[in-house]
Amino acid sequence: MENELTCNQVIALLSFYEEDKLNTRLKEYVDEHLSKCKKCREIYMKSAKIAKQIINLNNEAEKTYMTKQYDDFRHKLSSYIDNELDEHESIRIKKIAISNPLARKDLEEMYTFKKLLHNSFEKTRSECKNDFSKAIINKLEKNYIQSDNNSILKIIYAFTTIISIIVVGMIATLYF
Ligand SMILES: [Zn+2]
Repeated sequence: MENELTCNQVIALLSFYEEDKLNTRLKEYVDEHLSKCKKCREIYMKSAKIAKQIINLNNEAEKTYMTKQYDDFRHKLSSYIDNELDEHESIRIKKIAISNPLARKDLEEMYTFKKLLHNSFEKTRSECKNDFSKAIINKLEKNYIQSDNNSILKIIYAFTTIISIIVVGMIATLYF
């Protein structure tokens, strides 16, 4: 196989291999190498085991924070953010958020979500307002220009009529 990988290359690629981030061809080369090379296979087994342990540890850590208190926190979170709790309750929720990383994460996510929602609402509202005022201004301008044109035309028409009557009158008096 002309594209055989060296041990160092395989070891460098292992973390990507474990996370399934390699393209098919590279993955095949690593598979090929691992099937033939005992040394790399052992390294791979060890690191896969460690990765698995880390995941388990994280899960365990999460479990220790999944308390009844945390459940209560989740129930009251949105009331807390909307300032609907009394002072005592609101301090209690705040304390849970400080001591429990899961609760803190929830609180941060909720704030971000609220902010996003608020921003998009503000955006929609201001867009509406703009469109509305723009429409009114457009309409007004159109009417204004139209009525303006009309009155100017009327004045010009009246003016020319008067002038022509005067001119015709003068010609008449001079020549007849
Ligand atoms: Zn090797």
